[in-house]
Amino acid sequence: MKAKLRRTGIDALGDIAWGTHFCQFYHTTDDLLSILTPYFRAGLESGEFCVWVISAPLNRQEALRAAEVGIPRFGDYLARGQVEVIPHTEWYLKDGYFDMKRVLNGWLDKLDKAAAMGYEGLRVSGNTGWLEADSWRSFAEYEEEINNFIGKYRMLAMCTYCLDRCGASEVIDVVNNHQFALIRRDGQWAIVESYERKRVREILEQSEANYRALVESSPDGVISFDGKGTIIDCNEEVCRLVGVSKEEIKGKDFRDLLARPVPQEFSSNYARLAQVGQVEDEFEILGRDGQVVPVWAKTVALYESNGDFNRAVVYLRDIAERRKVEQLKDEFIGLVSHELRSPLTVIVGAINTALSEGDRLSPAETRQLLQDAALEAESLSSLVWNLLELSRAQADRLVLHPEPVSLEKVARNAVDRVKHQGSAHQSLQFLIEVPTELPRVYADELRLERILCNLLDNAVKYSPGGGEIRVTAEANDDNILVSVIDQGIGMSPDDQVKLFGPFQRVEDSRAHGVRGAGLGLLVCRRLVEAHHGRIWVESERGRGSAFRFTLPL
Ligand code: ADP
Repeated sequence: MKAKLRRTGIDALGDIAWGTHFCQFYHTTDDLLSILTPYFRAGLESGEFCVWVISAPLNRQEALRAAEVGIPRFGDYLARGQVEVIPHTEWYLKDGYFDMKRVLNGWLDKLDKAAAMGYEGLRVSGNTGWLEADSWRSFAEYEEEINNFIGKYRMLAMCTYCLDRCGASEVIDVVNNHQFALIRRDGQWAIVESYERKRVREILEQSEANYRALVESSPDGVISFDGKGTIIDCNEEVCRLVGVSKEEIKGKDFRDLLARPVPQEFSSNYARLAQVGQVEDEFEILGRDGQVVPVWAKTVALYESNGDFNRAVVYLRDIAERRKVEQLKDEFIGLVSHELRSPLTVIVGAINTALSEGDRLSPAETRQLLQDAALEAESLSSLVWNLLELSRAQADRLVLHPEPVSLEKVARNAVDRVKHQGSAHQSLQFLIEVPTELPRVYADELRLERILCNLLDNAVKYSPGGGEIRVTAEANDDNILVSVIDQGIGMSPDDQVKLFGPFQRVEDSRAHGVRGAGLGLLVCRRLVEAHHGRIWVESERGRGSAFRFTLPL
């Protein structure tokens, strides 16, 4: 059971968890009281129900007097019934003999009473001054039983033993039957653990650290909550998702993390969790700054050894990115389908007209129809080529075939091809400015031509008013800079940043009614990067653009 730590009031100990059973070895009555008084004081001040079972060297009168001196307002606590001081004859040796069952049940009754009266829990101490050699064995068994039972309860127990009445083997017994012992050494209280317990604790700590590391290294958010839905623990990823600290999340109701309205499906899944063991669903949580974060969640029920459902673990995965990609994919499919269909419509139309009207058409008209069809087929093939190239690049299957290439020749081929497509306006002028002494570049010639074709295609498409389109190249220290420069519509600085991402199109270009899937520049970028170069744009709205890329020498 995990709960807030309890203040012991004992400096050497600090805070401990509910369910701790420890002992104190004392020499003198002062030793005994120097631990007991602050122990009970801390308990009473923290709203716990306290039971102090006394025996020699203290009688009830002396104990009460010591408590009144050491604990402010002790009389009030006593009158209110928050503390009971019971002689051992009325507790351990009630009816004249020691009965383990009766004493254990006695503690359970006190726990019930503490809960019924609204106290935080039960803090007890029992003195063993009454123990004789013949009862030692059965009392040791009782101590062992307390060890087994206390972990489940909101209870702290300190047993006090007089060191002078214990032989070496008794000391070993006592140390073994408690989680640790307080012993006075050189005037200071020190904590002693049995070897076995220390080993178990170290193993537990190691296992806890391993478990922590495992949970913390998970890319998913991990939350554990109890049967009522109260969050017990979580990892850092949850804090990142929700934007608050672990301490703030713990103790909250898990359902409070969800964005409103909570989907009906979540509530029904959650209601049947205990029966089905695990459920998976997608819902939205309330993230940082009120942002809504879509998550995929797998919730797994955990059961007690008797089969009772008492806890669950949720794994949360941020799927905002995935949703965005899905949406982008849908948009892309729509856009590409449209881009594929438009040229096909023209091609089919031209062929049908040529077939049905063949006889009536002049040779010039037939030629025009075929030219239209060829132009659209060219754009279709270009789009398909870009798509294939992109899918190769995404799958890391882009294989280049580099060789020494003359840039002048590649530029000429690309310009010819674009000019040939016939979409270029009469008023457009193409210029190739590549110095004759420019060294050959080591590149994939076909790919290089496609990069230039894509850029030239754009330069033509986005120069509705005509003008000059220049392809230039110059050698720098370690690379060759190639530019395609137009005098077209240009673009704003914001748009320049986005252009090389997938499916990016500038609003202006849509307004100009120019078709495009927003793929050309992405393909250019992938191809230039595959050549270990860089690509960018310099542009001014209304003045034109210069698309530039480098190729390492
Ligand atoms: P598209 O097929 O849409 O032309 P690209 O990836 O080739 O796809 O280009 C992306 C966008 O960049 C274009 O839609 C257009 O808005 C803008 N763009 C590209 N080249 C130019 C250019 N030379 N002048 C102005 N805008 C351009």
